[in-house]
Amino acid sequence: MTLTTITKILVPNRGEIAVRIARACREMGIASALAYSEADDIRFVRSFFDDAVSLGSGDARATYLDVGRVIDAARSCGADALHPGYGFLSERPELAAACADAGITFIGPRSESIAAMGSKAAARQLMQKLGVPVVPGYDGDDQSVETLSREAMGVGFPLLVKASAGGGGKGMKIVRSAGELEPALESARREAIKAFGDGRLLLESYIEEPRHVEFQVFGDTHGNIVHLFERDCSIQRRHQKVIEESPAPRYTDALRQRMAAAAVAAARGVEYLNAGTVEFIVTPEGEFYFLEMNTRLQVEHPVTELVTGVDLVRAQIDVASGKPLPWKQSELAQRGHAVEARVYAEDPDDRFLPQSGRIALYSQPAGPGVRVDAGVTEGSEIGVKFDPMLSKLICYARNREESIDRLDRALRDYVILGTRTNVSWLRRVVTHPAFRDGRVSTRFLLDHEADLQRVTPDLVPALAVALATAPRKSVQRGTTEEAVGAASVWDVVGPWGR
Ligand code: ADP
Ligand code: ADP
Ligand code: MG
Repeated sequence: MTLTTITKILVPNRGEIAVRIARACREMGIASALAYSEADDIRFVRSFFDDAVSLGSGDARATYLDVGRVIDAARSCGADALHPGYGFLSERPELAAACADAGITFIGPRSESIAAMGSKAAARQLMQKLGVPVVPGYDGDDQSVETLSREAMGVGFPLLVKASAGGGGKGMKIVRSAGELEPALESARREAIKAFGDGRLLLESYIEEPRHVEFQVFGDTHGNIVHLFERDCSIQRRHQKVIEESPAPRYTDALRQRMAAAAVAAARGVEYLNAGTVEFIVTPEGEFYFLEMNTRLQVEHPVTELVTGVDLVRAQIDVASGKPLPWKQSELAQRGHAVEARVYAEDPDDRFLPQSGRIALYSQPAGPGVRVDAGVTEGSEIGVKFDPMLSKLICYARNREESIDRLDRALRDYVILGTRTNVSWLRRVVTHPAFRDGRVSTRFLLDHEADLQRVTPDLVPALAVALATAPRKSVQRGTTEEAVGAASVWDVVGPWGR
């Protein structure tokens, strides 16, 4: 088989994932180009790229989500490959198809696999054919309220109404009794049309206190498919992951092996190419069901990289150029424990509302076993037009206990001033006794809501004022050359969070 040469990769994305891909390009001696919206502060991200092309000045829809503009951008800068990252166009079969038409190598699965998994209903039907268990429910084409209501009685309550085209936890409604069904169907359909342009719904039995456990899978053009073990992503708010870890705590090897086999069967069933994730929901009794397959690199991929010692992005690029997978299943093993926390510009004490502002002071944690994948730095402007995730903090150690100790320490060391963040709230989560014991479920944040409330006053606004008024010769920690003085920001920040 002849290899496709990749000399320049376009990344139509933003934030930390764009940086992650640019880093892999540099390590492989491949040129990189960022395709960006002018409405975004790209200065930090841009510095990791060799080239940059504007997609215009509009919001996400008019820029990062416009297939035509993205393909034009690739052409205009001479890119021969494209890595979509996650979010945005990463799960649009049209983008993979448009790349193929334009002779650009798409770093991801085949357009047909993206399409096959893009509808949760179709994916469920396919999994049933492959013998992979799915949550009891209704995934039929008849979308009339009569049929959905009749099927709902069969599924029983509580049940979950889901947008078949859904993602990011949007368009989901829990229905606890028959009377709640019709309004839930109506609002789920409205939300689904608005968010995904597709109002098809499916019904699933709602599993109480489940865990979300997913498997990283990877296929190449030579017919090889492997899995790279699991990630437990049970700590979620509004069905969105906040903390992810590998291995999944408190599970037997036997259960994890059965799930791995199901994940590989799912990937084989669609002759899956490149990196993907098979998501499962697991009942407290240890029964697991297929939820969906994400046909892209996942936000939480670093935990897998740390416990298996692989570079998933490099492997994605190699596989896209036609090379075989760099690892055999028998060479892959989990070693130690990794845990990731997503750092957001949001206010956990006020409904997690997204925050904006300019990062006036930024210092990120470092030290043994600490990895920070950030999309911002000091001076970055945080707007409201795009996702408020600022960075990801991933800690690795030889076991779960030590990796969480490390995450707690690293969160302590994190200083971000100028916008509210979830950093101190994340510390409350990871120091909670139930989390430390591995007693996790997707209800964790609700069940422990009271324990996770702020007990001490928020120091960030006070610090912001101190920062604005402090003499500010240098904000570098440990600067000896320049006299920073007793009123320096670091003197103010020093005691914070200790
Ligand atoms: P996962 O979180 O497992 O990767 P989701 O289905 O939750 O999968 O979708 C991806 C998440 O990433 C969404 O919450 C979305 O808001 C967020 N997201 C998408 N694009 C970006 C981006 N460029 N920067 C930060 N977050 C993003
Ligand atoms: P999305 O595309 O938004 O990621 P998923 O189907 O993967 O949608 O579900 C997201 C989250 O919603 C899961 O991680 C889980 O917490 C919850 N969830 C999904 N289906 C069920 C179910 N049948 N019962 C209980 N919780 C569910
Ligand atoms: Mg999901």
